[in-house]
Amino acid sequence: RADIPRPILDVLHQLRERGFAVFLVGGCVRDILRGVAPKDFDVASSALPQEVQGAFKKVIPTGIQHGTVTVVIGGNHVEVTTFRSEGDYLDGRRPSSVTFERDITRDLSRRDFTINAMAYDPIGRELVDPFGGMEDLQAKLIRCVRSPLERFSEDGLRPLRAVRFAAVLGFTLDPATRDAIPPTLPIFKKVALERVREEFVKLLLSPRAELGLTLLQETGLLEVFLPELAGAGDTAARLARAAAQAAPAEVEIRLAALLADLVRGAQARDIAIRLKFPTKTADTLGVLTEHAFLENRTGESDPSLRRVLAQVGPALLEPLLAVAKARVEVRQPDQLPALLSLQERLRALLAAKPPLTTKELALSGKDIMTTLGIGPSPQVGEATRFLLEAVLDDPALNESERLKGLLKTWQAGKGA
Ligand code: ATP
Ligand code: MG
Repeated sequence: RADIPRPILDVLHQLRERGFAVFLVGGCVRDILRGVAPKDFDVASSALPQEVQGAFKKVIPTGIQHGTVTVVIGGNHVEVTTFRSEGDYLDGRRPSSVTFERDITRDLSRRDFTINAMAYDPIGRELVDPFGGMEDLQAKLIRCVRSPLERFSEDGLRPLRAVRFAAVLGFTLDPATRDAIPPTLPIFKKVALERVREEFVKLLLSPRAELGLTLLQETGLLEVFLPELAGAGDTAARLARAAAQAAPAEVEIRLAALLADLVRGAQARDIAIRLKFPTKTADTLGVLTEHAFLENRTGESDPSLRRVLAQVGPALLEPLLAVAKARVEVRQPDQLPALLSLQERLRALLAAKPPLTTKELALSGKDIMTTLGIGPSPQVGEATRFLLEAVLDDPALNESERLKGLLKTWQAGKGA
């Protein structure tokens, strides 16, 4: 109770004083009971949205159709949702209707897993746990509220959530819950990929990503949205999962560690686009998977490594090093020392701030045209690329007089 933020307690007190039932619900109850600080607090109440609006000075109607309003209290925002039950699911994605309820148990019974279907009133010190959530929490079990087959058929995302919670919490799937996944895969297939991606990212960033990925494979879920990994051979898939787990928990880095040895560059980028990742994430994944194989470059010269820096870009050097290290750790641990010294070389080369793009050349496009005595033409682009190659070979050449000299020789050579 000491850990519950003041604004949340204030909202609970004020709704209680007006005679409404009000509880903390969902993930925060689960986390409080397992002794972990909740990420956010969900408040549910018997008060209807307009009754909540009447109880506080400032309330924003954030999602009033599904019963959610945001109470602004002392500058803080607290979401309050009216107890509700759901009508039949018609398409495996959303309920046909939502009904407001005065009884918390009706609200809890629409929730996915027993450990997520508890309500706690920290003022009256009452735990409402109609489905044995506390017991499953102690046994570390993910178990559906009521019939798994029915619940997974209602909302095709739930099987993925089951696996996600197993990975995030380090829990086991209850056998009946696990067995209900393969027969409901056709419903999972209909789920919007944005929702799939959201759950997948939580799984991938969890400390037990490898276990989560294995469960995805075994249950058939992975085949639906990531056939490139699901269809890889056993050994390749196992190494991919281990590399993801070995990488730091950032989405682009873990995705690249997972996929690099299976799909590269544009193909990896396409997968991210298909899974509705932001374009920037997809681009980054493309670059990281394209260049991840640093263990093959340990013998290369400085000019060649500067070209790696130019292609990857300074901002992605550290992520790239992390991807390469994770892959090599699980695949070729004997190559790790060589890779680490390559990393140091790449860092030192970058720290010297060499010119890596045409923008950083000591001559502008205009300077180049003047030097060559030409107007805008494809030759300007060609000359610019020539200069960039020259300074990548030797950054000391990046001074206007030296570049002008190089240009003239280049032009004379072309004329000859
Ligand atoms: P996290 O800590 O990862 O946010 P959470 O339990 O809060 O975990 P949310 O996805 O934020 O998970 O959902 C909040 C609560 O809403 C859940 O605890 C669960 O009770 C309920 N819930 C969410 N999604 C579903 C669903 N698809 N079907 C049934 N209940 C759901
Ligand atoms: Mg949550």
